[in-house]
Amino acid sequence: FDDRDGKIWMDGQMVEWRDAQVHVLTHALHYASSVFEGERAYNGKIFLGHEHSKRLHFSAGELDFEIPYTVEEIDAAKDAVLKANGFTDAYVRAVAWRGAGQDMGVASARNPVRLAIAAWAWGNYYGDAKMKGAKLDIAKWKRPSPETIPVHAKAAGLYMICTTSKHAAEAKGCSDALFMDYRGYVAEATGANIFFVKDGEVHTPLPDCFLNGLTRQTVIKLLKEKGITVHERHIMPEEMEGFEQCWLTGTAAEVTPVGQIGDYTFEVGALTRDIAETYEKLVRS
Ligand code: PMP
Repeated sequence: FDDRDGKIWMDGQMVEWRDAQVHVLTHALHYASSVFEGERAYNGKIFLGHEHSKRLHFSAGELDFEIPYTVEEIDAAKDAVLKANGFTDAYVRAVAWRGAGQDMGVASARNPVRLAIAAWAWGNYYGDAKMKGAKLDIAKWKRPSPETIPVHAKAAGLYMICTTSKHAAEAKGCSDALFMDYRGYVAEATGANIFFVKDGEVHTPLPDCFLNGLTRQTVIKLLKEKGITVHERHIMPEEMEGFEQCWLTGTAAEVTPVGQIGDYTFEVGALTRDIAETYEKLVRS
């Protein structure tokens, strides 16, 4: 991914893609002092771009560092990256981290905070599986308690078990893994939130120990506008037996139907298709 043409915004400047490098003694590389955002631009405009910039600032705050650019400056930098690369539709990745500097121990208050923004073309997150219904494995790791780690930050440290769980899932022929949380409730996938349908009503886990995704919030609003009842609640894994439809939401995943989780199966039903279409229309409008 590092060897290609293009421009990346780094610490206030547009640099060549290949030159967007960091030192091996970068604090974030050793201690996960890094936060990021995943965003999508449609027809030249980033959907909820400002909210993503705000979340980046919030996540940094949760890790006790301050990004040396305002939310508005980040908004402008993202637009500049799209423009510099000639993109109208793209995935946008902003990342802020504690860099290399004075300190190389756990404490790094004197090291500079860095910010970079890249963008690239990224089609369906789940490839061809998208509208056929993705197959999910159940992760062996659990989403941690809010007393363990700042669970609402989009922070690199929370993704360690996402990568290993996704690799394990792919080795079994699945597209992703579903996490339970530290109490045993259904939580989220490795980079997306989850929804279920039963008897015309929607059930989705309460985001009390994981990311309350912007796509999740958007989809809940769209469902309510359609007059559909949405239950945000704790869901036991056994309940999946009785659910008829299931989908994932995320900036990269958009609305992706799920056909199977472990031994539980779901149909790609009318409501799943409808909400996927409504979301697609909204982001492009
Ligand atoms: N959970 C996790 C772990 C994620 O990485 C993402 C993607 N950012 C989401 C949920 C969905 O969040 P959003 O809809 O804001 O992209």
